[in-house]
Amino acid sequence: MVSRVIPVDEFDLVIFGGTGDLARRKILPALFRRFCAGQMEPGARIIGAARSEMDDDGYRNFVREALREFGTGRSCEEGTLDGFCETLSYVTVDARGTQGWKELAAKMKIGVVRAFYFSVGPSLFGDLAERLHQYGMADADSRIVVEKPFGRDLATARALNHTLALHFDEGQIYRIDHYLGKETVQNLMAVRFGNMLFEPLWNAQYVDHIQITVAETVGVGGRGEYYDRSGAMRDMIQNHLMQLLCLIAMEPPAKFDPDAVRDEKLKVIRALDPVPPEDIVRGQYLAEPDDPEKPGYLEHVDNPRSKTESFIAMRLAISNWRWKGTPFYLRTGKRLRGRTSEIAVVFKDTPHSIFGPEAGRHRNILTIRLQPNEGMELGVTIKEPGPGGMRLIDVPLDMSFAEALGPDAEEVPDAYERLIMDVVRGNQTLFMRGDEVEAAWAWTDPLIDGWEARGDAPEPYESGSSGPEDALMLMHRDGRRWREIRA
Ligand code: NAP
Repeated sequence: MVSRVIPVDEFDLVIFGGTGDLARRKILPALFRRFCAGQMEPGARIIGAARSEMDDDGYRNFVREALREFGTGRSCEEGTLDGFCETLSYVTVDARGTQGWKELAAKMKIGVVRAFYFSVGPSLFGDLAERLHQYGMADADSRIVVEKPFGRDLATARALNHTLALHFDEGQIYRIDHYLGKETVQNLMAVRFGNMLFEPLWNAQYVDHIQITVAETVGVGGRGEYYDRSGAMRDMIQNHLMQLLCLIAMEPPAKFDPDAVRDEKLKVIRALDPVPPEDIVRGQYLAEPDDPEKPGYLEHVDNPRSKTESFIAMRLAISNWRWKGTPFYLRTGKRLRGRTSEIAVVFKDTPHSIFGPEAGRHRNILTIRLQPNEGMELGVTIKEPGPGGMRLIDVPLDMSFAEALGPDAEEVPDAYERLIMDVVRGNQTLFMRGDEVEAAWAWTDPLIDGWEARGDAPEPYESGSSGPEDALMLMHRDGRRWREIRA
């Protein structure tokens, strides 16, 4: 099976913040891999822009260094790196001042797609949008790409949307959530809407519950200052886990087009019930005993009495015809036992067991693994082989992408590769619309306001565990349990 690579139109991509961490770790390696795959037309150009003084050759060396450090993840022909470097140039620009803007404007090609990646802090989004217009660089077909965090509450998200809307139409704004660019996440839509098998069962009548877990083994590390102002709710639930929830729970869109898909996702967010305090468990990791490399959360942040959560588990309810009565359990946290991202759709028991109680309880579970080892697994019940009567066991029908695609698995683009190429193609399906982001904050805000007003403190949990005890109880009291987070 050979993956098809369709070259995108010629483009000028300006990366504001082209010397920053995100550019080095994600954006530039992703562009390089697409270049290697032959997806960039010869006229494609990438222009780094930031305040640091550098010339084109300086930037090319900077990018070579970044690619060395963060890996290309792809075997390339000799000379490909030199070819990629020829697409690169650099302009010293101050987002808040006048420096560099005329030079940048003069550099832009006429008649090609223009994309501007705002890989800078959100406080600069307005300045950049305004100057792109002031210097005549943005035309009706230009696109801007903005990164998370998109606001820290509804008011700030609205203000950001308003600022961007002064200069760009919604159809020009690409709000990235890299979870949406993952191969498995898109496969989730293919599986749901491309097969007859699943959709008839995809509702409260047949689904007992759904679990979404995003577990990390790392702590907040050097990001303590940023993270402590955010916490797991703002950093993970409001965006990444909410997007996964939407794709699982949405109605089939009439067609696979950006607004049809995003309309359906928006309806899910609007149908979410408020969550009572007893359905939320927040936690903070403790130090790993005897390992000075793994201090506790409070040692990573400036405020020794911080009540910010590094873990959260919640039980959500969606009030609509499809999902009434099926709980969605979400959990995410740092310094947990393993690094796992997965969605598990747990189907109900058969209405009657013809095999009697000794056959035990068996359930079909569809697991969508985002990491590690992206793929899907469907647990089915079969007879245990051999003599001795009808004993049942659960076996997985496993579809690992790496195994299914063989050597072609290397060719599957990662999230940033796909999303940046979608920007150039002008396809917004995998990007969040402004109203979606606002609706997610409108649901999130009262929950955060609630625990802040009550002064709730997060429950400490052991480093390397599955999170606080109460998170386990959240499911136990419903007669269910979390899937194991494997080390
Ligand atoms: P960073 O390492 O601090 O980089 C910021 C970039 O902005 C640098 O290139 C900096 O270069 C440039 N910059 C700062 N002030 C500027 C100004 N006045 N004019 C022009 N350029 C300016 O930040 P980052 O980690 O790359 O993050 C960038 C954005 O992505 C942020 O919104 C962040 O929240 C988001 N994000 C980052 C990650 C990640 O993994 N790093 C993940 C998700 C989202 P100079 O100092 O040379 O100007």
